Amino acid sequence: MRVLVNAGPWLQVPPHGYGGIENVIATLVPELRRLGVEVVLATVGESSLPVEEQVSVFPEGMFGVLQRPYNQVCGVVPAHQNAVVRRLAEGDIDLVHDHVEAAGLSTLVALGAYGPPALHTLHWDLQKHPELYGTFDGGDRVRVNGVSADQLTHAPAALQAGSVGHVHLATPLAVGADRRAPVVKDGSVVVLGRINPGKGQDLAARLAHEAGFDLVLAGPVGPYHRPEDLAAADQQNPDVRFWREHVAPHVDGDRVRWIGTVTGEDRDQLVAGARATLFPLRWNEPGGTAVVESLALGTPVVGIARGCLPELIEHGRTGLLTTDEAELGDLVQAVDKIEEAECRAEAARRFTPAVMAAGYLELYEKVRSLAAGSTERS
Ligand code: UDP
Repeated sequence: MRVLVNAGPWLQVPPHGYGGIENVIATLVPELRRLGVEVVLATVGESSLPVEEQVSVFPEGMFGVLQRPYNQVCGVVPAHQNAVVRRLAEGDIDLVHDHVEAAGLSTLVALGAYGPPALHTLHWDLQKHPELYGTFDGGDRVRVNGVSADQLTHAPAALQAGSVGHVHLATPLAVGADRRAPVVKDGSVVVLGRINPGKGQDLAARLAHEAGFDLVLAGPVGPYHRPEDLAAADQQNPDVRFWREHVAPHVDGDRVRWIGTVTGEDRDQLVAGARATLFPLRWNEPGGTAVVESLALGTPVVGIARGCLPELIEHGRTGLLTTDEAELGDLVQAVDKIEEAECRAEAARRFTPAVMAAGYLELYEKVRSLAAGSTERS
């Protein structure tokens, strides 16, 4: 099977540092190829992921221009999508696996019968783009999938009707996690993720002072990755405002610290050495890569039982969940009863790249056979 995987024009694959979707693709593609799938990757020129063929228009990731006014950036995605459509016109692609928000889906729908069967993975909050998702009709050829079951329950009916199910996210850290030696934990709690109201860092910071635990916040504020970058930050950026008004007042550099974005080995050591990772969610986290990474690194998860968390975490075995914000502090104090080995074993069983690739391969077959069924009928 030859699959065109559309990673979009924003960041290279694998990304340098932060890059949620590009990381998912970098985790998935090597496993697909191991299973015999030929991969044509639509991405930017600087991507280094080994594939059979690369399609690109932009030499470098265009993420940096995203903050510019709309009329300066609105040509980026169409230019990338043109190259994708031209490649599809060669007629040898069996299936498209698309990851480009909004425009990826509408291009595939617009291709109609000219396009191959396609699966568009929904990595996002599905209450966004109500006009697009609420009127979605992919016919027999274009299907969507979620990254958790919960995520799809919040989707408009039209999108649910076009869904072929969900595949949970994965992490390469889960491979062999059950066999790795335990790490000494230093007693602090970590929140790893974009600093943003939905991820609830303000609540975490308040709790740290009230319940008396040390807290490390890691992750970017909007496009700013280091504390020193914030001095010249755009004060109108909503994440910068959230940081300034709701999080920074609790960050004293002692009980609560913000260390900016951490990547690679630094990130792994930070999470592995933590007593717990905290997810004080105020949104329905769709997929939660940081959740499965935490388990793979042997660190239990404490959080609000919403979004994907109840699907990924078993309360009392791999973490502690509550629907009540007021209880989170007590759960942090109780987390030491969760065993590191249970967390690692769960990740090795459920969240490896091989498990994710097997899930996608199943969906590819389903999408192709649904499309073939419609061709036979017509
Ligand atoms: N991440 C990171 N460094 C940071 C903060 C986050 O490398 O300082 C990574 C994190 O390990 C995860 C990804 O960014 O792989 C975030 O993905 P997730 O699905 O948790 O959240 P999203 O940002 O996609 O909502």
